[in-house]
Amino acid sequence: LFITFEGGDGSGKTTQIRRVGQWFTDRGRRVLLTREPGGTELGGEIRRLVQHGPEDVDARTEALLYAADRAYHVSTVVRPALEDGAVVLSDRYIDSSVAYQGAARDLGTGEILKLSEWATEGLRPDLTFLLDLPPEVGARRGSGDPDRLEREPGEFHERVRHEYLQLAEEDPDRIVVIDAVGTPGQVFSEIRGVLEERFYG
Ligand code: ATP
Ligand code: C5P
Ligand code: MG
Repeated sequence: LFITFEGGDGSGKTTQIRRVGQWFTDRGRRVLLTREPGGTELGGEIRRLVQHGPEDVDARTEALLYAADRAYHVSTVVRPALEDGAVVLSDRYIDSSVAYQGAARDLGTGEILKLSEWATEGLRPDLTFLLDLPPEVGARRGSGDPDRLEREPGEFHERVRHEYLQLAEEDPDRIVVIDAVGTPGQVFSEIRGVLEERFYG
C-alpha cells in the first residue's frame, strides 16, 4: 500500500503523516515513513542543493534534480518496502513536481508528469491525501528555515494550490482533498475517516 501526502508549504503534511503512520502501526501493519526530496542519503544532498545551493539553479535544473531524487528514492526505498509488504507513506511525491515545477514554475504539467513517470517507471500511489489550505495560512504557520521556495511570492503558492486542486478533480479516486484549516486533531479525524472506509470498511 502506497499512500502519499501532498499540499502547499505548512499545510500539515509532516504532522499528519506521523499520525497516519501510528494509525497503521496500531493496526499491526509495518510502516515506512519517507519523504521527497530527501528520503535517501543521496536525496538529502539533492534537497540541500535545491534549497540552499546556487541561486542560479534554473527551473529545468531544479525539475531534473527532483526527478533524480525521486528515481533513486523509488528504486532503493519505496519499491523494496512495498515488495516487502510495508505500508509506505511518503511526504510529497509526483503531484508536488507537477504543481511546483509543472504549474508554478511553468515548465508544463504534462512534461513534468511524463518525466516523473519515467523516473519512477510508472509507480503510482494507491491513495493521496491533498491537504488544502490558503497559502497565507500555511505561510503564517511557518516551518523553521525559510528556504529558496518559501521566499517565492504569494502568487506562486496560489498556482501550486490551484494545480493540486485541478489534479484532484481529474483523479478523484486517488486524490482525496482534506480541508487542512482546522486543528491537527480535526484534520486527522477527516483523514482517519477515509482510511477506515477504504481499508477497514
Ligand atoms: P512543509 O511543506 O513546510 O514541510 P508541512 O506541510 O509538512 O510543511 P507541518 O510541518 O506539518 O506542515 O506544519 C507546519 C507548522 O504548522 C508546524 O509548526 C506544525 O506544528 C504546525 N501545524 C501543523 N498542523 C497544524 C494545524 N492543523 N493547525 C495549526 N498548526 C499546525
Ligand atoms: O515539504 P518539504 O519541506 O519537504 O518541501 C521542501 C521545499 O521544497 C518546500 O519549500 C517545497 O515547496 C519545495 N518543493 C518544490 N518542488 C517539489 C517538492 C518540494 O518546490 N517537487
Ligand atoms: Mg513538511
